[in-house]
Amino acid sequence: MTAIERYLAPAGLDDALAALAGGNATILAGGTDLMPQINAGKVAFRPILLNIRRIPELRAVEVGQGRISIGALVTINELKDNPVIAKAVPLLAEAADHFASDQVRNMGTIGGNVANASPAGDTLVPLLVLDAEVELASATGRRSVPMAEFFTGPGRSVRRPDELITALSLPLPRLRTVSRFVKFGTRPALDISAVSIGFSATLDGGRLSDVRVAFGAVGPVPMRGRATEAVLEGAALDAAIIAKAAATAQGEVKPIDDLRASAWYRRELIHNLLGKVLSDVVSR
Ligand SMILES: Cc1cc2nc3c(=O)[nH]c(=O)nc-3n(C[C@H](O)[C@H](O)[C@H](O)COP(=O)(O)OP(=O)(O)OC[C@H]3O[C@@H](n4cnc5c(N)ncnc54)[C@H](O)[C@@H]3O)c2cc1C
Repeated sequence: MTAIERYLAPAGLDDALAALAGGNATILAGGTDLMPQINAGKVAFRPILLNIRRIPELRAVEVGQGRISIGALVTINELKDNPVIAKAVPLLAEAADHFASDQVRNMGTIGGNVANASPAGDTLVPLLVLDAEVELASATGRRSVPMAEFFTGPGRSVRRPDELITALSLPLPRLRTVSRFVKFGTRPALDISAVSIGFSATLDGGRLSDVRVAFGAVGPVPMRGRATEAVLEGAALDAAIIAKAAATAQGEVKPIDDLRASAWYRRELIHNLLGKVLSDVVSR
C-alpha cells in the first residue's frame, strides 16, 4: 500500500483543484466506498489524501433556468429528505429511500456514488433517466458530461484524475411526469442491487410521451433502454403494450453471472419488474 505523504482538507474549491492538479491525490468524500476498497486491497492511496468535505459550495442545491443543480457532497439522506429535491426530482428521492442504511446514507454522497461508477450504483439509474449532466472542475477549467457518456466500464469513467465532480445538473421534469424506481436485491434490506429500473414519462390522456427507461446492474455500465422506450413512446398503456415492453427490456439488457444473481435470473427480474412498474403507473 502506498503511504500517504500529505493529508489536505481545504475549505475552498480552488485549493482542492490545485491539490488535484498533478493527478496525485485520492479524493475522500463520505468514504463509504473508498475505505472498504482500500481495506480490501482493491485500491491504493495516492500520495495526497484530499478530504473535500469542508468545501461548502459542493453542498449547494439550487434551482434556476429550468434546471436543478445538486452539489457533489449532498448525502443520500439529504437526497431523500431535502424538500426542494423531493418536489423537483422525486425519482432521485425515491432511489435514495432504497439505498443502504441510515449510517451509510448519512455519510455517502451523490458525487461519490457517481465517481465510483458501479453498474449497481443506485443514483445512477435515476440520473440517467433524468438526463443529468456531470459537472467537472479542474485547475485548468470546467466541463459538463452527459450521464449517458460518463461511464466507460465498471469503476471507470471519462473523469480525469485531476478533475473533481462538483455537481449533478438536471433539467426539471415536465408537468404530468410520472416516475418510478425499483431495485431488487437478495436481502430485503442493506443490499446492493441485483437489478434496478428507473422509469419516467409524461402521461397525458392515457398516452405516454418523452419515455425514458434505464437499467442498473445488467451490464458493464448503467444503460438506457432505448428499444423499450421505442415500444412505449406514444403508446396507451394496455396489457399488450406492457407485455411487449417487458419482453423487449428482457431482450435488450446484457447481464452477467456474478455472486448476486445469474444472467438468466437478472433477465427474468427485468421482465417481471418492468411489467410491475408499468402496471403500477396505469393503476395510479
Ligand atoms: C454497507 C454499505 C452499503 C452500501 N449500499 C449501497 C446501496 O444500497 N446502493 C449504492 O448505490 N451504493 C451502496 N454503497 C456504496 C456507497 O455507499 C455509495 O456508492 C456512496 O454514494 C459513495 O459515496 P461516498 O461519498 O462515501 O464516496 P467515497 O467512498 O468517499 O468515494 C468513492 C469514490 O469516488 C471518489 N470521489 C468521491 N467524491 C468525488 C468527487 N466529488 N469527485 C470525484 N471523485 C470523487 C473517491 O476518490 C472514490 O474513488 C454501500 C456501501 C456500504 C459500505
